[in-house]
Amino acid sequence: LSRQNIYDLAITGGGLAGLALAIQSARAGYKVILFEKEAYPFHRVCGEYISLESYDFLLSLGVDLGQMQVSKINTLQVSAPDGRMLEQALPLGGIGVSRYTLDHALVLIARGAGAEIMEKTKVSEVNFNNNEFSISTNQGPFLARCAAGCFGKRSNLDQWWNRKFFKAKKNKLNNYIGVKYHARLSFNEQAIALHNFRNGYCGIVKVDGDLYNICYLTTADNLQRNAGNIALMEKNILSENPHLRIIFDQQRTRKEDSVVISQISFEKKTQVEDHVLMIGDAAGMITPLCGNGMSMALHGSKIAFAHINAFLAGKTSRDSMEKKYEKEWQVQFASRLRTGRFIQKLFTNRKLINVLISVCRRMPWVTRKMIRSTHGSAF
Ligand SMILES: Cc1cc2nc3c(=O)[nH]c(=O)nc-3n(C[C@H](O)[C@H](O)[C@H](O)COP(=O)(O)OP(=O)(O)OC[C@H]3O[C@@H](n4cnc5c(N)ncnc54)[C@H](O)[C@@H]3O)c2cc1C
Repeated sequence: LSRQNIYDLAITGGGLAGLALAIQSARAGYKVILFEKEAYPFHRVCGEYISLESYDFLLSLGVDLGQMQVSKINTLQVSAPDGRMLEQALPLGGIGVSRYTLDHALVLIARGAGAEIMEKTKVSEVNFNNNEFSISTNQGPFLARCAAGCFGKRSNLDQWWNRKFFKAKKNKLNNYIGVKYHARLSFNEQAIALHNFRNGYCGIVKVDGDLYNICYLTTADNLQRNAGNIALMEKNILSENPHLRIIFDQQRTRKEDSVVISQISFEKKTQVEDHVLMIGDAAGMITPLCGNGMSMALHGSKIAFAHINAFLAGKTSRDSMEKKYEKEWQVQFASRLRTGRFIQKLFTNRKLINVLISVCRRMPWVTRKMIRSTHGSAF
């Protein structure tokens, strides 16, 4: 390893957190490298509804949202497993855009800003020695002064660091699967729908183009009980909710195969691991029911960049960078995550959801309060 090739910042993971951090750091003149194990563009499991709190930040990164034909969402629909429906205007609203489109746009911007983006490059170890990081990948080793972990909800690196959430026994907060695909549907263009079913919920929202995102979270048990067959699970379990039955009975033109992920965990995580700043889902994942993990990943990158910038510019020590980042992260996101975990637990009980939806229908302020406590403001 030549010391001349040392990077200012090495980022593991090229989702929203990693790419947004790469853009900000490269624009500030730092030598940045980002490792992504996949090749762009690709589909991810995600509901693809972004709260408007991120709109200005995305524009500031250079994302041309106007060009992308994103959908504008102003209404929330929530249905209980028995079909009882709640409809409410969203206080802030949001947009629908596929991650395939959005992440790809960010990669092009990051490269344009001078960041080195290494695709099909999987990081296996990040070691901190003599005040610098050596990063082992399938493309060889790299050196960096600063390192960020933006590797999402679950990664080989969680195992390598032996992170506590990774070792937790299976429980109500860590044994979920996520399924997502795009389809052509006949559905409200301005609504985000969250339809609950036995042990799960399914989001439907229009994204760019004339496609709808169908994305759901459910227990691994539900899939096992249906012989691991997604279509069978949709027919036997999701379609028990009459609103979902209408969706699944439609002649859906599917654009691509489902992307499926497993072992999703909403347990608490640490924000700094062996001097690496964790950002986005790697720092803590909010339940999709609360719908704004993407905004948290983007906002987290902005907070992290301010502290990394101060450190790389010699204005603060590594120790103070880590402590300040952790503190600011807690102030911004900890209570949102707590509320998200609480709501997720409520929504695992079918009878309780039916009651909750009836209460929210009569008292819209309860819904507004829940939305506010899980969303932030523009950043
Ligand atoms: C079912 C479901 C629905 C959701 N719906 C919504 C929604 O509607 N709205 C919303 O705002 N949020 C939603 N979210 C949450 C949102 O998807 C995440 O919060 C967001 O993607 C986090 O971004 P990130 O950058 O932290 O991670 P990611 O976008 O997951 O990116 C992490 C990247 O790291 C890469 N990586 C991992 N390990 C390595 C390694 N060792 N080496 C190299 N690369 C690596 C991965 O390939 C990946 O590309 C949903 C999540 C789920 C599970």
